[in-house]
Amino acid sequence: MMGALKGDVRTINGSNDMQEDVFMDGLMMDFPLTLDLVLRRAEQHFHHKEIVTRMPGKGWHRYTYGEMAVRAKRLALALQSAGIKEGDCVATLCWNHYRHLEAYIGVPVIGAVLHTLNLRLHPDDLAYIASDARDRMVIVDESLLPLLNQFKDAVGFEKIIVVTEQGVAPDGMEDYEAFIAPFEAADYVQIPLRENMAAGICYTSGTTGKPKGVVYSHRSNVLHSIGAGLESGIGLSERDTLLPVVPMFHANSWGLPYAALMLGPKLVFPGPYLDGETLLDGFASERVTVSAGVPTVWNALLATLAVKKDDYDLRCLRKLIVGGSAVPVSMIQAFDEKYGIGVVQAWGMTELSPVGTVSNLTSALLEAPKADQYLYRAMQGTPMPLVEIRARGDAGLAAWDGETMGELEVRGPWISSAYLNRPDAADRFTEDGWFKTGDIVTIDPVGYIKIQDRSKDLVKSGGEWISSVDLENTIMGHEDVAEAAVIAVPHPKWDERPLAVVVRRAGSSLDEATLRCYLAERVAKWWIPDAIVFVEEIPKTSVGKFKKTALREQFSEYQFQQSN
Ligand code: ADP
Repeated sequence: MMGALKGDVRTINGSNDMQEDVFMDGLMMDFPLTLDLVLRRAEQHFHHKEIVTRMPGKGWHRYTYGEMAVRAKRLALALQSAGIKEGDCVATLCWNHYRHLEAYIGVPVIGAVLHTLNLRLHPDDLAYIASDARDRMVIVDESLLPLLNQFKDAVGFEKIIVVTEQGVAPDGMEDYEAFIAPFEAADYVQIPLRENMAAGICYTSGTTGKPKGVVYSHRSNVLHSIGAGLESGIGLSERDTLLPVVPMFHANSWGLPYAALMLGPKLVFPGPYLDGETLLDGFASERVTVSAGVPTVWNALLATLAVKKDDYDLRCLRKLIVGGSAVPVSMIQAFDEKYGIGVVQAWGMTELSPVGTVSNLTSALLEAPKADQYLYRAMQGTPMPLVEIRARGDAGLAAWDGETMGELEVRGPWISSAYLNRPDAADRFTEDGWFKTGDIVTIDPVGYIKIQDRSKDLVKSGGEWISSVDLENTIMGHEDVAEAAVIAVPHPKWDERPLAVVVRRAGSSLDEATLRCYLAERVAKWWIPDAIVFVEEIPKTSVGKFKKTALREQFSEYQFQQSN
């Protein structure tokens, strides 16, 4: 041992005995990373900052972080008095709004577990999910009661709290305001929490199978929130005005509500209005600087801007965080060149709390030509600090050469180590403690990843892989294409060949021959789809991704001929 260490050990022991081979612990506090810390931070430092919500009638509700903290504590007391204890699950079935935020913090600070139900799922799936998580109570938006009524009896919630406009809940249910009314924030006493206890549950949206429960801990939520504040993460700060379009029922709204409480931006919730015009109105009137959502949302926004650009002052908007599915270069370029708005792509999964990588530009890329910057922005970026990556191909770990494909594996303090009640899904985790993402990637020498596909969506043509994502993005680069999805169709000679399903832009008469010529100039000949089918709409999942399972079903009769 080094002399200096021996000296320190002696001090710790309070004696002069010299000990050989004694290892030191640091002399730092054992300080649990729990969400009550985040609540205190919000109320102590950001009490004056605004939280604004677009209400069902389209008007705005305004209050402050300080008022939010008071009401979250009243909710916490109300839940305790209703018998909710440590480890009990409380579900929400709500849009993005201030009372949902109160539940986001008021539920976990009493040791209970917040389970955000995805309102776009089928009632049968919701019944399965809420029963699987053993939700005892549910907080539901009035407008979503017709949905709740279709599955509540199958779950048997003990209490249903309704977020109402007029303060009147249906028989057998309780109004949210009435529920918290009897309680005073001053009576709230923080119970001690353990950092590894469960704080929240989200189910995967089931794009590739039955939804699986992901259980977040206090620690994972706190660390993920810090990650969001880093420049090499999302770079959110107190100076921002954040409008999370991504729903609070989808992977914790990408962790943004907790990040906001930790970092203190002005918060703007869109309520149930996610259409281009209402969002743009909110961006302009509330002077939003950062927003986040899936590519389909920003596609709709671009369409609105194309005809109404001058109606909105978007000079404050500096960053759109886009993720959930691949972002075409054309979208990144359009936002930058036409409107001066930077698009930053993030890759993640429900299992990753959810952010894993962010396409921030390195110092070298900042010096590079714009075209190169766009190409890197269209990749999924480098891992957030504390997240580690590797890719595994048939021949073992894939080289970081930007070319070798393999399945991405990740590990880190905000990544799942198991699914709730699903020992059958243990094969998603490696023996040495990594999570297998199911995404096929290449990794470049500095760790920039590019998602080539979900392993189930790759087109395996004659022993070679065609990335459906790459092909889709190239097709969507055509100015007359609004959306495109590519699926594999069985082929007698090549095993599988690509079929492209394309939605034309409104007013365009794009035909197959023109699109083929366009592709011939941009992709390898053997990548050109064997069939291009024009449709009115591509089916989407509950969180706005192309629903490839539905497309595969729709085209299940499709057979390519030997001559192709
Ligand atoms: P589900 O697994 O049910 O689709 P998630 O929202 O957790 O629900 O989706 C995670 C998946 O979404 C990832 O495994 C990946 O395939 C895809 N994904 C997320 N972000 C991106 C991105 N930026 N580019 C490409 N694919 C992405």
